[in-house]
Amino acid sequence: FGHGSAVPAGKTRVNGVKRIIAVGSGKGGVGKSTTAVNIALALAAEGLAVGILDADLYGPSIPKLLGIEGKPAVRDDGIFTPHDAFGLKAMSIGSMLIPGQAVVWRGPMATSGLRQLLRETDWGALDVLIIDLPPGTGDIHIALFQQTIVDGVVIVSTPQDLALIDAQKAIDMLRRMRVPVLGLVENMSYFIAPDTGIRYDIFGTGGAEQAAARLDMPFLGAIPLVMSIRAESDAGTPPVAARPEGPEALAYRAIARTL
Ligand code: ADP
Repeated sequence: FGHGSAVPAGKTRVNGVKRIIAVGSGKGGVGKSTTAVNIALALAAEGLAVGILDADLYGPSIPKLLGIEGKPAVRDDGIFTPHDAFGLKAMSIGSMLIPGQAVVWRGPMATSGLRQLLRETDWGALDVLIIDLPPGTGDIHIALFQQTIVDGVVIVSTPQDLALIDAQKAIDMLRRMRVPVLGLVENMSYFIAPDTGIRYDIFGTGGAEQAAARLDMPFLGAIPLVMSIRAESDAGTPPVAARPEGPEALAYRAIARTL
């Protein structure tokens, strides 16, 4: 992996973790977490040792997406042992809450919570740690990017103008904080009706690809809007784990190979 030679002052790596890739979005609901989980599984399918950290502290969805139940084990020295889900090592604040419980934390609490999840977890030896960021550009992003060497960020957007405008703001933050942007994924790119096979460009299409060109960054690929992605995600068996050779899994695996 290309780590680059100049390590910015104050930023450190995470013990045992070779490479960190974060997945972000300008706004919520565009499929950031779904993309993060399936990219993580796709990297694991390539034979890499992969972990996933849910940094979306106010809206954690990794436990549900990976069908994780119960709290992570804690060692005598206070270090967490991550859950194992489909071969991924996974940590989420969501595993420590009772159903319906909100995280009501101001910025400093949230950033120290994130630090604990990231630094006080026994990740073992990982080739890649995927971090599912919160949407937008807030305290958690600033703290993570200031303290930790993040090797690159994947931005997820729908083709819609509004989502893309917000994605552009997330990219602006990364550039200003000197965090490498790996590129843009267009999610919910188009819909193919299962009964007729007719393609519908519900949110317009090609928007993210054009935005990537305009912003001078790689376009990493498009994921269609597919009912099975929603259904399998809700059931806690993401497409790449449920049907590794299915068309949706292949789309995620193609994106993962660009990283
Ligand atoms: P975010 O992390 O951006 O808030 P999620 O990953 O939680 O978004 O996705 C929001 C909803 O959209 C979820 O119900 C998810 O199952 C669904 N979803 C995401 N991507 C797709 C897709 N490509 N096809 C169908 N449903 C999707």
